[in-house]
Amino acid sequence: MLHSYYDTAIIGGGATGAATAFELAHYKLKCVLLEAKAECGFGVSKANSGIVHGGFHYSAKDTLKGRLELRGNRLFHELAKKLDFEFYPCGILAAAFSETEMEQIRKLHQCGLANGVEDIELCNRERMLELEPKLNEAVIGGLYVPHAGTVEPYSYVFSLIDTAKLNGVEVKTNFEAVSIEMKDDLWTIKSSENEIVQAKYIVNAAGLFADRVSRIAGAEEFKISPRKGEEYLLDRLSDARPSKIIFPVPSAHSKGVLVIPTAGGTTMIGPTADIVEDKNDNRTSAEKQKEIFSLASNMVSGVSVRDLITSFSGSRPVIEGKEDFFIAPSSKVKNFIQAAGIQSPGLTASPAVAEYICELLFANGLQAEKKDKFLYPEKVPVLRKMSAEQAEILYRKNPEYANIICRCEMISEAEIRAAVRKGHTTLDGVKFATRATMGRCQGGFCSLKIMHIIADECGCAISDIMKNEKKSVVISGVAGDLQYEKN
Ligand SMILES: Cc1cc2nc3c(=O)[nH]c(=O)nc-3n(C[C@H](O)[C@H](O)[C@H](O)COP(=O)(O)OP(=O)(O)OC[C@H]3O[C@@H](n4cnc5c(N)ncnc54)[C@H](O)[C@@H]3O)c2cc1C
Repeated sequence: MLHSYYDTAIIGGGATGAATAFELAHYKLKCVLLEAKAECGFGVSKANSGIVHGGFHYSAKDTLKGRLELRGNRLFHELAKKLDFEFYPCGILAAAFSETEMEQIRKLHQCGLANGVEDIELCNRERMLELEPKLNEAVIGGLYVPHAGTVEPYSYVFSLIDTAKLNGVEVKTNFEAVSIEMKDDLWTIKSSENEIVQAKYIVNAAGLFADRVSRIAGAEEFKISPRKGEEYLLDRLSDARPSKIIFPVPSAHSKGVLVIPTAGGTTMIGPTADIVEDKNDNRTSAEKQKEIFSLASNMVSGVSVRDLITSFSGSRPVIEGKEDFFIAPSSKVKNFIQAAGIQSPGLTASPAVAEYICELLFANGLQAEKKDKFLYPEKVPVLRKMSAEQAEILYRKNPEYANIICRCEMISEAEIRAAVRKGHTTLDGVKFATRATMGRCQGGFCSLKIMHIIADECGCAISDIMKNEKKSVVISGVAGDLQYEKN
C-alpha cells in the first residue's frame, strides 16, 4: 500500500481533468491526476464530434457553459500553436431550409452578437452556396462563424497530459478512486487496487461518474444521465467532405446532426442525442445510422453509406434536471471542487473550465506561486504532413520513418515507437496518438505489426497487449506467437 501526498488531486483524465492538470502545472505545486482507465482521454473525451464551437448557441451571460465555451474557443487558437494536436480552424455554417428555421438562425445570430463572437455573419442563400457549394441548393440562408474548427480530441488530451507531466504533474492511470475520506483537513483517496493518495484539495472531473465520486466523498448528491450520441465516420476520399462544419438549426437538447470535416482529414456525420440508462452503453444501431445518413444527405451532397469506415458512440454527462455545467466548490465538504455535468460544449470549454477551476482553488485557500519557466514537449515529426524532400531527410536521420506500418494513414514505425515511449502501450492508445489503424482498413493490415512494436518497446509478449481496458485481450493462444516481419 503506497502513500503519496499532494497539494491537489484531480480525479478523471478527460479533457476537463487534463486541461486542469496543464493549468496547475504552471504553479509551484505538487499535483496528481488519477485516471481509472488504462490511458487518459478514453472516456467521453475520445468519443465526440471534435468541434471547437463558435460561441453562438448559448448565452454567455446566462449560462456557465456559454461563457466558458466562448473563452475556450479563444484559448484553443492559442493552445494549438503551443501544443502538439491537430486543429483545423475551418469555421461553422448553420443552414436554414425554411422560413421557420431562418427565424431560429436570426436568434442564433443575435445570441452570437450579444456574446461578442467575432466576424459572425448572417448570410443569404447565395452567400451560403458561395461559402459551401456542397450545400443542398434548397438552403434559404444561414449563419457563418469563421473562428470555429475541429480538433482531434484525443491528441488534444494527450498533449495536455504530456505537457503537464513534463512540468511535474504526476499521472496515475489504472487508478479508480473507490473511497474518498477527509481527516484533519487532508483527503485520503483509495484506489480499487488499494493504492492510497493523500491531497489537500480534490477536483472532481470524473465525467459520467462524477455523481459517484461526489457521493463517495460525501459531497453533493446528483444524478448524471448519459445523453448518448452516435457518430459515423466516412473515408477521407468521401465526396461529402465540406470545407466548413455544417450545422442544422438546433433543437432544445441537441445541436442536431452535423457534417464535420475532421481535423484528421476524414468526414464525420452525427451525432444523435438520446438519454440512456447505461453509462457504458457504446453501441451504435442500424436505426440511428439510417436516420443520420438521411439527415446529413438533406444538408450536403455526396453522403454515401459506401464511404462508411466505422461508427462509434459516446454519452454526454448531463446532470438530471440541469442543462448547464456544475463547476463550484462543494457546499457540503471542504476543499472539493466539482467539475460535473460537463456536457457539450465541454471539449471546447475545457481550457476555460481549467482556468475557472484554478480560480476556484485559489479562492478557496490553495496557495502557490507561478513557475518562472514552463516547458513544452518536442513535437514528434509527422510523416504524412511532409514533402518528399522533407521525408527524405527524415529517412536518413531515422530509417524507421521509411518503414510504413499503417498504409491507409501513412504512419511510420518511428511514429509508433515514439507514441509507445510516451506511455501509449495499448492498441487504442497508439491509434489515438498516431492515427495508425484509423483509415479505410481500420487496422486490418497493421494491427498485428503495431502490437509487435509495442511488445518490442515494452519487452512483453504480444498476447499481453490490450485493446484499451485491463482485460481487453486482442490475441491469445497460438496467435500470440505470430511473428512480425519488417517490410
Ligand atoms: C457524441 C458527443 C459529441 C460531442 N461533441 C462535442 C463537440 O463537438 N464539441 C465539444 O465541445 N463537446 C462535445 N461533446 C462533449 C464533450 O465530449 C464532453 O463535454 C467532454 O469530453 C467531457 O470531458 P470530461 O473530461 O469532463 O469527461 P471524460 O472525458 O469522460 O473524463 C472523465 C474521466 O474520469 C475517469 N473516471 C471516472 N470515474 C473515476 C474514478 N472513480 N477514479 C478515477 N477516474 C475516474 C473516466 O475514466 C474518464 O476518463 C460531445 C459529447 C458527445 C457524447
